[in-house]
Amino acid sequence: MSAGRWRGWLEQGSNRLLALLAPGPAACLLCGRQAAAPGPQEAQQSHVRRQPLCRGCREAIPWIEAINCYCCGRTIRCPDCVRRGGAAFVWSRSAVRYDASMRAWLAAYKYRGEERLEPLFAEMLEPVLQRMTAELLRRLETSPKRAAVVADVAGRQLPAAAIAACWDGIAYVPVSTARLRERGFNQAQRMAALLGRRYGIPVLPLLVRTRHTLKQSGKSRWSRLRDMQALFDAAPEAGERLARLRQSRAKARQGPDSPRTAWRPGPDAPHAARRPGPDASPAAWRPDAGEPSAKGQPLRLLLVDDIYTTGSTLDGCADALRRISDLPIEIYGLTWARA
Ligand SMILES: [Zn+2]
Ligand SMILES: [Zn+2]
Repeated sequence: MSAGRWRGWLEQGSNRLLALLAPGPAACLLCGRQAAAPGPQEAQQSHVRRQPLCRGCREAIPWIEAINCYCCGRTIRCPDCVRRGGAAFVWSRSAVRYDASMRAWLAAYKYRGEERLEPLFAEMLEPVLQRMTAELLRRLETSPKRAAVVADVAGRQLPAAAIAACWDGIAYVPVSTARLRERGFNQAQRMAALLGRRYGIPVLPLLVRTRHTLKQSGKSRWSRLRDMQALFDAAPEAGERLARLRQSRAKARQGPDSPRTAWRPGPDAPHAARRPGPDASPAAWRPDAGEPSAKGQPLRLLLVDDIYTTGSTLDGCADALRRISDLPIEIYGLTWARA
């Protein structure tokens, strides 16, 4: 073989090798088709951006945009919450409606162990956590003028520091030991862990399931609720964990790097173009800017689960935590889907 032919052959081979090694267009996590970046409007709404999804799967996500029930964040007026007449949690919000596609996605993860979907579920919780935090900031703001500023800035993306400042910790709904052994993981705990890591909020194992869930079908709504209340208990060390969390947060609030005072719209914040007026001092941004109660500021916890159905699971868990805490504690539900 001549030198020229050798060279040609080698070049051809190395080009083929390079083509094989070059990263191709990312495949959709769910269906394997070619992933497509979100459109400008979608990106602005801070929906899934980091995980590769194709257009079809992206558009299949039934985001909950407008709610009609303040308590559980449902899109329709909700007889369940009226009938319950108060819950142990303050309110609960979910990212998506639990329709047929979401059911299939969750089944692939929970029952077929497709763990690559985990970051997708965690990212899907981010826009709802953003909105919950904005809603909380608005509600805690007593001055209407400052509330308007909060609403204006919160309409855009809140920086991670603002979110970390609002929430003291993340708890999650536990699964039974038998279920954990069978499945190998607790989906609520995994979602909570990823969310906690993203925003720098401590994730605490605070709850245990006292027994395996009994078959719920065929039972009346009330006996189902009663069952659920007895189903969860605080973990043995939960009291100490909450006390330690309360101490560390109180200490951090006094320090110069207080997570509750350190955050303010800085030059890197997406809303820096329109800085809030002088009325919006950093103090105005503190979620606990009011007078603390005699027993101190309430500890504010997120309680994460995959699906909200009747609210009895969240209610049972929140009730178990409130029973062991003699100091004020506020629990807010955050679930991936609303059935
Ligand atoms: Zn797809
Ligand atoms: Zn409701």
